[in-house]
Amino acid sequence: MPELPEVEVTRRGLASRLAGRVISGVEVREARLRWPISADLRRLAGRTVKAVRRRGKYLLVDCGDGHLILHLGMSGSLRVLPRGTPAGKHDHFDLVLGDCLLRLRDPRRFGAVLWAPGDATQHRLIAHLGVEPLSRELDPRRLHKLTRGRRTAIKLFLMDARQIVGVGNIYAAESLFLAGIAPRKRAGRLSEQSCVRLSAAIKRTLRAAIRAGGSSLRDFVGSDGAHGCFQLRAWVYDRAGQACRKCGGAIRRIVQGQRATYYCPVCQR
Ligand SMILES: [Zn+2]
Repeated sequence: MPELPEVEVTRRGLASRLAGRVISGVEVREARLRWPISADLRRLAGRTVKAVRRRGKYLLVDCGDGHLILHLGMSGSLRVLPRGTPAGKHDHFDLVLGDCLLRLRDPRRFGAVLWAPGDATQHRLIAHLGVEPLSRELDPRRLHKLTRGRRTAIKLFLMDARQIVGVGNIYAAESLFLAGIAPRKRAGRLSEQSCVRLSAAIKRTLRAAIRAGGSSLRDFVGSDGAHGCFQLRAWVYDRAGQACRKCGGAIRRIVQGQRATYYCPVCQR
């Protein structure tokens, strides 16, 4: 599944290619994505793309009076291609911009293409989203405040998009290792010092993945068509039974909220 780093890499690729271009139309080959693609999108023609932003894993194509909201779902990818490029079986949606087009390929059809008039931050899918982990909003003080009174395990807290948005399973595990925090520790019991280490670890982990060009999913294709390469050398993720890269002890695997968690019982307390 495309995670925040892949979406951010895609955003950067799209922003430089699309900003300033005028939308000439849309082509919908399969409207049945996670939600149906509305016929209203035809009215986008004539608008200029001002910018491409991101909120969590949603891409927001700013069209001035509203935003085209794009989500990659489980298996989606976006590419900028010359107009007229033949569409493949899973190429469900094109945004046509003069001599090029933005194409959504989504084999599993869990992605989304939606129009949000006005302020996209008020859209029902976006309004409830938590703090952006790469923004200044997420700092030790904020993390400490957010976790107070939370009895949930810190790993699950990190993956709750209503608290912090876009920290997926891999990044939560890696961040907790870097911060030396056990994944089952109650969020509300994190000290101020732990919050200093954890907020830095989250940013470091996500930035490293962005630098590596996006991650994890084999069918992820960056916006320029290049394969995303998750070349982060994992500290703990998917390393059950292997030696911890810090202490040499065995990495352990547990299940939290139906997801696998990997950690080092020696390095993480
Ligand atoms: Zn260790």
